[in-house]
Amino acid sequence: MAIRKTEAFVIKTVPLRSSSLIVTLFSREFGKIKGVAKGVRKEREMRGAFFELFTHADIVFYEKTRSDLHLISDAAIIDSFDVLRTRLNTIVYASYFAELTDVLTEIQDPHAEIFELLEVSFRYLPALPGEKIARLFEIKLLNEVGLLPHLDSCLQCRAAVPERGFFSVSQGGILCAACSRGLGDAKPLSPEALRQLRFYASSSLEDSLKKPFSAAPEQELMKILESFLLYRLSGPLKSRQFMNAIRESVTL
Ligand SMILES: [Zn+2]
Repeated sequence: MAIRKTEAFVIKTVPLRSSSLIVTLFSREFGKIKGVAKGVRKEREMRGAFFELFTHADIVFYEKTRSDLHLISDAAIIDSFDVLRTRLNTIVYASYFAELTDVLTEIQDPHAEIFELLEVSFRYLPALPGEKIARLFEIKLLNEVGLLPHLDSCLQCRAAVPERGFFSVSQGGILCAACSRGLGDAKPLSPEALRQLRFYASSSLEDSLKKPFSAAPEQELMKILESFLLYRLSGPLKSRQFMNAIRESVTL
C-alpha cells in the first residue's frame, strides 16, 4: 500500500458500521477518490469535522491496489467552508455542485480543473447569485468531462448558427432552423441565451463570473441544461429535486 497525500474536497459521506465513514473526495492530484475514515463518528467533536461536506483538506491515505476504497489515515483542514453550511441557499447549491461532480466523474481520473472549479464555486457562492454559479459550474464541468453540448455550428448540416438557434437535448447541441424542423425535442433558443451559453463555454471562469447576470437568458439556460443533464444521467439528482421543490417557497 502506497501512502498518498493530496488536497481534496469532501463531496459525499456515507456511514459505515457504527463509527466509520465512507468519504468521497475530489482531489487535486488523483481526481475522485473514495476512502474509509475509521472511528470518526464516535469522536465527532475531534475528527468528524474533517469530513463535513464541502470541507477542503489535506488528506493522507493508504492506496489499496486491489480496491477503489482506500484507507484515510489523516486529514488537516485547509478551509472548512463553514459559511456554506449556515444558509439554506448555499447548502442547496454546494450540495448540487458536489453531487454533480460525483455523478459526472470517474474514480481516479485526474482533473485539476474540476478541483479548481469546486474551489472557486465554493468561494464565490456566498457572494454571487447561486443560479449564475450553477450554470457556470454545469458548463465548465461538462466541458471538462467531454460532454459539453455542441455549440459552434448546426450539428447536422454544419451551417453557421449566428443568432437564432435551436437546442436539441437528444442530439446534444445546436441546430439551424431548417434542421430543427423534423426534430420533436428541438427548442428555440433566444439570441441572448445562445450568446451567454457560448460566452460561458469559451471564457475563463473568472471572466464569466465578472459578466453581469441577466435573469431571462439565465432562466432559459437553466431549463436547457437541466433537461440535457437529465437526459445524460441515469436519474434526477437528489440535490436538484430538493432545489426545485423548495424554489416555490424560498428565494434561492
Ligand atoms: Zn442545419
